[in-house]
Amino acid sequence: MKFLLFLILTATQAYAHEKIFKTKADKVAFGVFTQQKFHQWPFPLLSIGHNMQSYQDYSGSPYWHDGLDIRANEDEKIFSATGGKVINIENYVRGNHLYWEIAILDEEGFVWKYHHVSKESITQEIVNAYKTGTKILEGTLIGNVVKWPTTSFGEVYNHLHLLVVAADGRYINPFLMMSPLNDTQVPVINKIGLAKNHKPIEGIEVKGEHSLFLEASDLVQHQKFILPPHKISYRLNNEAEKVVWTFINLPSGKNDTDYINDFYMKGTCGDYSCRKFYFNLNFSPEKPRDVFQLEAGNHEIEVTVEDIAGNKATKNFKWKVL
Ligand SMILES: [Zn+2]
Repeated sequence: MKFLLFLILTATQAYAHEKIFKTKADKVAFGVFTQQKFHQWPFPLLSIGHNMQSYQDYSGSPYWHDGLDIRANEDEKIFSATGGKVINIENYVRGNHLYWEIAILDEEGFVWKYHHVSKESITQEIVNAYKTGTKILEGTLIGNVVKWPTTSFGEVYNHLHLLVVAADGRYINPFLMMSPLNDTQVPVINKIGLAKNHKPIEGIEVKGEHSLFLEASDLVQHQKFILPPHKISYRLNNEAEKVVWTFINLPSGKNDTDYINDFYMKGTCGDYSCRKFYFNLNFSPEKPRDVFQLEAGNHEIEVTVEDIAGNKATKNFKWKVL
């Protein structure tokens, strides 16, 4: 009986969602998505090298990483996580052999982009499917991961850069689509503190307009490749929880640079040899660099960070407004 009731409720809810959201891609984008079927990883991964919210800055113009860097052994074979139509085979950085893309449109309207496939290894089946429009099956061999020339933190960095794009062009967190990983590493809050003009400052006393920074990190099956957490939230002076952001998708939606310099504060770095994240706790897409309007006196904040596996860390910070 209970089971029957559960079925009816689930069906009713699903129907309600179905009316508003035409595709699963819409559901993900609006955060009401519950995964029915997880996809298999394209190969047994070594670790996650970057997640979608990773801060990237190699030349002074920062951007969101957008997808997952799935670290691989040298020459690892890539198997398609979904079936679907091969809609692109492209050298997207012309003349550079590191940047080959295979894109597959799945049955639910998501485009899966596999980056850093070695050109010579792209299989005939994929090439034919692209030419003829024939659908491929889940688990089809795409090719091999290209040998990456740069090491990072003393580690070989061969990786597949996997992007998932919804029908409306928004990037979706690929983690939501994949079989959950065994991730027991709890995110770490290193520091919470005061900020002025979008820059962390020392001390616990402040005059006038100010905001707060959070310095935090997470790891997934690795000890060096630190990542930004999946969710950041806080309770200010014991008020209700406020979510700064949950990375179901990016606050920027389609664009990989929008808000990056608002969400991350000055002092943040993200390249082959430096990873440090100063998050702006006052961030929201409506008021990207808002400041706290607080009365003079003592204040307290309880910050919580969470990874996608649900591991959580909480830390408090007290300060005085003069
Ligand atoms: Zn990448």
